[in-house]
Formats: sequence, structure tokens, C-alpha cells
Amino acid sequence: MRRFMLISCLLCVPIGLRAQPPVVDMHLHYKWTQQDVTSPADAIAVLDEENVVLGVVIGTPAELALALQSRAPDRIVPIFSPYREGGDWHRWAYDETTVTRARTALASGQYHGIGELHVIGGFAPTLEKAVVLQQLLALAAGFDVPIMIHTEFSRADFMLKLCQQFPQTRIIWAHSGALLPPAAVDRVLAHCGNVWGGLGARDPWRFVDNPLTTADGILLPEWKALLLKYPSRFMVGSDPVWPVDQLDRWDEADSGWQQLGRFWTFHRGWLAQLPQAVARQIACRNAVALFGRSQQVKCD
Ligand SMILES: [Zn+2]
Repeated sequence: MRRFMLISCLLCVPIGLRAQPPVVDMHLHYKWTQQDVTSPADAIAVLDEENVVLGVVIGTPAELALALQSRAPDRIVPIFSPYREGGDWHRWAYDETTVTRARTALASGQYHGIGELHVIGGFAPTLEKAVVLQQLLALAAGFDVPIMIHTEFSRADFMLKLCQQFPQTRIIWAHSGALLPPAAVDRVLAHCGNVWGGLGARDPWRFVDNPLTTADGILLPEWKALLLKYPSRFMVGSDPVWPVDQLDRWDEADSGWQQLGRFWTFHRGWLAQLPQAVARQIACRNAVALFGRSQQVKCD
């Protein structure tokens, strides 16, 4: 009886107290609209809760990523966002100060990448006329840092041409496959060894027309095959924006950080359906390697 009780007690450990495998969140935003409801200390506490060992943070304005980093210097990787206020997601590509500001930010040594840059059909210039974007790609290669790009087109051609034109630049393709079938993502990854697929916001609440899993959370076969084909080329992020119905909320606080558990519970669910070594690469190792943190961050 005593023995039975001991066993049942072990089995009774609440799920929340079991250590979750460590993950890197490669798509975090910290915006002025989030600071209202999530202080830097609150944000770091959320990372603790979810066992996020490294977080790549896009500040709006950029300095907010530094405010987070000051609380957890080794855990936060700030990347430079040129966005300062609402609407900059479509203005940056035409703003001549974007490149100068990015150069100054990277030269300061405080930022370790550029992004997230939105390139959305109907708003963005064509690739030939995308001078600011092209200069940023060259700048990222010059500083040897990754650049995160969010594309929204019905074909993969824009990304394909871009990555071929800048083979020296390491490109994180944000939400890759959110609007394109796995075969299109495969085409880009096959042609461009300098592209990594970011799976931020590929959850049941965003980009709902192109899911990664069934409604029950089962990884779709064609996505599973793609992840297994390129185990060193994908990374996961939460992209904390909440509520999710607006891309660029400015009149209401964004409570995305309070939803981090929701996003990571989903991602951990499909990651667990992959062989453990592959899941560890996608959830942690690939981003650690891409941002050069292998010495500081352990994924085991
Ligand atoms: Zn995005």
C-alpha cells in the first residue's frame, strides 16, 4: 500500500511543474503597445515560465528590445527594427533614413540582426525598385547578421530572387509557408542555402488558411516531410500579438505576452511528433547556431 502510494504520488506531479524542453523563441515583439500591460520584468518572467532559453526580440521602437535585454543580458537577442510608430510597416521601404539608422544601430554592437521587415503585395515596391530593402540585405551581410523578412505574395518568386541575389546574406523567412504551400517553401530552401524558415505565428490563431497541423494538432504529412527534409533550416517563434485581428494595433494595448503559453503549448505539441533530435534542432539548436550563441546557450 505504501509502495502504491509512493508510485501514485510520483505520477501525480502537476504537469506545469515538469521541466519543459528548452526552446528558443526566434520571433518576439516588444512594442510600446505591449509595454503598457507587460513590463520588462513581466516579460522575462513569462520566458522563465515557458523555458525560453533565448529570445530574439524586435522592439517597436527598436530601443524597447534593449530595455528587455537589460533585464536578461544573455537571454535576449535584440535585432534592429526600423519601425518607430504605427504605419511604419509599409513606410520603411520608401524611407531613406531606414538604412542609415540600421547601419548606426548595428555599428553600436547592441543589435544582432535586422527585422522584421514586412514586404506585402500592394504596399511594397517591386524587387527591382526595392532599393532600401536591397541596401539592408547588403548591410546585414556586411555586419554578418541575419535579417528577418515577412513576405506576402501568392508566389515564392520574390523571396527566391532576393535570396539568389544576396547569397552572402542570412535570411530568416518569417512565417514561411503561411501563405504558400510546402512545395513553394521547399523550392526556396532548395535553391537558397542562405534562407531559414521561421515558423512564428504558424498556429491555429494566425494564417488559418494554411495550417501546419490538423484541428487536433497533428502535424500535416507534407509539413512533417518538409521539416524532416530540412531539419537544420527551421526555427519556431511565438510572434506575440493579441488580439490577433490587427497587424498594427496602436489604439489599444497588445496583450500578446500573456498568450505566450498558448502559442508554445501548440508548438510543443507538434514538435513532440518529430524525432527528438530533429525537434531539438528546430526548437532550439538552429536558432542558437544562427545567432552564434552555442557557447552560452544549452539546448539539452
Ligand atoms: Zn510577421
